[in-house]
Amino acid sequence: MAVTQTRELSKHAVDFIDDAALEALAARPAPDAAEVCDVIAKSLEKQPLSVEETAVLLAADTPDLQQEIFDAARQLKRCVYGNRIVLFAPLYIGSYCTNDCAYCGFRRSNVDSIRRTLSHDEIVGEVEALENVGHKRLILVYGEHPWYSPEFIAETVRSVYETKVGHGEIRRVNINAAPLDVEGYRVVREAGIGTYQVFQETYHHATYARVHRAGTQKADYRWRLDALSRALEAGQDDVGIGALFGLTNWKFETLALVAHSLHLQNTYGCGPHTVSFPRLTPATGLDMDEFSRVSDAEFKRLVAILRLAVPYTGLILTAREKAEVRRDVMEFGVSQIDAGTRIELGGYTAAGDAQTLRKEQFTIGDVRSLDEVVRELLQTGFVPSWCTACYRLGRTGEHFMEFAIPGFIKRYCTPNALTTLKEYLVDYASPKTRALGETVIATELDRLPDGRQKGELRTKLADIESSDQRDLYF
Ligand code: SAM
Ligand code: SF4
Repeated sequence: MAVTQTRELSKHAVDFIDDAALEALAARPAPDAAEVCDVIAKSLEKQPLSVEETAVLLAADTPDLQQEIFDAARQLKRCVYGNRIVLFAPLYIGSYCTNDCAYCGFRRSNVDSIRRTLSHDEIVGEVEALENVGHKRLILVYGEHPWYSPEFIAETVRSVYETKVGHGEIRRVNINAAPLDVEGYRVVREAGIGTYQVFQETYHHATYARVHRAGTQKADYRWRLDALSRALEAGQDDVGIGALFGLTNWKFETLALVAHSLHLQNTYGCGPHTVSFPRLTPATGLDMDEFSRVSDAEFKRLVAILRLAVPYTGLILTAREKAEVRRDVMEFGVSQIDAGTRIELGGYTAAGDAQTLRKEQFTIGDVRSLDEVVRELLQTGFVPSWCTACYRLGRTGEHFMEFAIPGFIKRYCTPNALTTLKEYLVDYASPKTRALGETVIATELDRLPDGRQKGELRTKLADIESSDQRDLYF
């Protein structure tokens, strides 16, 4: 039975966003080259940057300095994450919402929205469709509504994990839903979720009040800012923060994301697992002119700067962005992308490629299939990965930091990326993608140091090829 949520904040609740201070930093004068180089050097040592140091990078305004930032972000990504890109898909569970966020197609005042909550059988159907094209990792998405209680969320998570078809299974379910109380996070955590994401949308208090109608749950800035602190207090040590870019000054939001990350790290000894930076896209009844636009060039800068500011935090780039933009920013530090994305409820079984905006939260820019995206990644030097080993072996949260040291990628990440890629190639890939993938696996194997582990990896790859053995990892 659903238990009523309390409105109790976390033990250490504090509003750590000082608008005036962040506004001043966002508008600070351009730094000289030496200052920028010092900050870059610190980041390349894999040390998280302070808000002030991040502001130095944001203020770097010459093409030369910006190029140095891009080069450093590329270098850091390669050394912390290698050339892997983790793939996932979103699965929208319910579009009912009691909030009225000015930017969202699900807002309650949008009478044009065709709303729906997937039934158990519909969830099973969607998950089977996702498994049948090769997905292993999902993020479940919900509006904010009393129906979508922690118990309901937990039940939907269990339904996803229980659904298996052929060699298909979902090995990691992340959540993007409304903030919960501590007990609510415990309930959801027990269902075995991965990351719990809550985006602050905008950290700027006045903008927050403007876009979230007073009297709605979401209008409570503090409740939302504190959301992931409560999750951490509930033992959910895998959390994702985010800002919706386009509501206010992009430099302000970037600094606030860093402030949030540092707050969690300093208070709980565990920073966010991921940072998301969605850009606002058109939704039903939305007048885009009312919002500020973050240009592609600014977007590229903010991704690179986030990479440098939070070296060990995963960066998620979604299909809101067009394929060209995704291609362009990926190398500057993105670690996860969604692919084959459909955000219409029931979209993986029913809808074709076209978007029906009245049934969706917003417009997406990249509707390519998973196979097309995988092929492009392979062609452009990335290794697509569906690896979930660390989470399942307890190498998450703080522990993950200890492991993300030189040698870790070679020992675990690359081999696991290759076994999951091999599964994809054998079970789901088109002939063209398969051929390309096999070549990439051979090249990556060549690059790995010889030894016992390489032998074990070869055995696992051969087992996947010739038997029904799956889910083989280090
Ligand atoms: N309803 C929950 C909430 O608001 O926290 C779950 C998240 S909502 C379904 C997923 C995210 O989509 C929001 O946090 C917001 O950042 C993003 N979003 C909403 N409207 C958008 C738009 N027009 N363009 C791009 N992203 C949007
Ligand atoms: Fe509801 Fe979330 Fe959309 Fe706001 S962003 S209207 S809370 S679904």
